[in-house]
Amino acid sequence: MKVTKQVEVAICDFCKKQEALYYKCTACEKDICYDCCETEAVKYSHTVHSSRSGDGVYCHNCDEANKADPLHRAYARIATLRREANSFGEDFKKRSDEAEAALKRVQEQQSATA
Ligand SMILES: [Zn+2]
Ligand SMILES: [Zn+2]
Repeated sequence: MKVTKQVEVAICDFCKKQEALYYKCTACEKDICYDCCETEAVKYSHTVHSSRSGDGVYCHNCDEANKADPLHRAYARIATLRREANSFGEDFKKRSDEAEAALKRVQEQQSATA
């Protein structure tokens, strides 16, 4: 049996080509495809340490226009903390590597003089 079904698809409001399955601007609700999300929008994670559904997506217009909006501010605050966590992680890794290298140097010196 063959039937023709009508399927509703969301087309990206930016490039008008791709199907926009994943993203929608949190403020203006325009559909955004995966590619355009990289170029036309800003993604905000809803937790500091992971990202999954519930993340905010703002097209560039709305990102600018909603700076004072409580929801946008809440997302932006998490984004700031994420950046902080990342830079802390990098700094921590650097210091760990230095500390481990220092221990190795001392051990090597001691075994050389023993
Ligand atoms: Zn697109
Ligand atoms: Zn928007």
